[in-house]
Amino acid sequence: MIYDWKAALAFIGLLIALTFLARFLVFQVPALERMRKLNREADRPKLARQRFKEAVKRNGRVGLWTNLVFYVAFLPFCITLDTPPLWQVLVQIVAVLMLFDFLYYLTHRFLFHGKALRRIHALHHRALKPTYIDALYVHPLETFIGLVLFLGSIPLVAIANGGPLNAPAVAIATLVFTQVNTINHTYVNLPHFPFKTLHWVTSIHAAHHVTMNRGNFATLTMLYDWLFGTLEEPVQRASP
Ligand SMILES: [Zn+2]
Ligand SMILES: [Zn+2]
Repeated sequence: MIYDWKAALAFIGLLIALTFLARFLVFQVPALERMRKLNREADRPKLARQRFKEAVKRNGRVGLWTNLVFYVAFLPFCITLDTPPLWQVLVQIVAVLMLFDFLYYLTHRFLFHGKALRRIHALHHRALKPTYIDALYVHPLETFIGLVLFLGSIPLVAIANGGPLNAPAVAIATLVFTQVNTINHTYVNLPHFPFKTLHWVTSIHAAHHVTMNRGNFATLTMLYDWLFGTLEEPVQRASP
């Protein structure tokens, strides 16, 4: 095992650069900029409530520290700057994301919606019609568990791989994880080409928020909900 701090630094730099670039490019599209404005208008009264704002801040702090500790203590053992063939890079991205989605599906269905952590998860479910900011309105313990599941998937896939993973592959997987988890809470009403998938992703998680007794437990793909019979129809909303 090698503590590859250069790979970890490259990972952090690439993740930050990709996040800014993706955000910049996405909002050059007028329809998406229009949706961003609608979400911001809906978020404003929520953030005006002191307790809501405090909960979002607390959640952010826990997320930041969990990431930082992992990035310093564990990540450098799990990644490398060596570049395998492109197909292996793609397999590594998909493996990290699919393993996380499976672990999250089980945790969300049986712990967050089971007896153990239902009351903690209920905070996030106060949003019956989620908009952007509700992605961050999460109990710190839930944020910590969700992040541990994602970050923990990285060493597990590295062990299965028999060696460290490609740093850019892990950066791309992390970008997809963070962005999809946020995007699926936004209000999007664009049921036409080329936005149909985005519309579906947000409508499918909106269905999960209608009550605490609904399915759609996975967060990245709906594969596990489909496999285990908890897939719900998407919910259409005319306004945020
Ligand atoms: Zn839930
Ligand atoms: Zn949610």
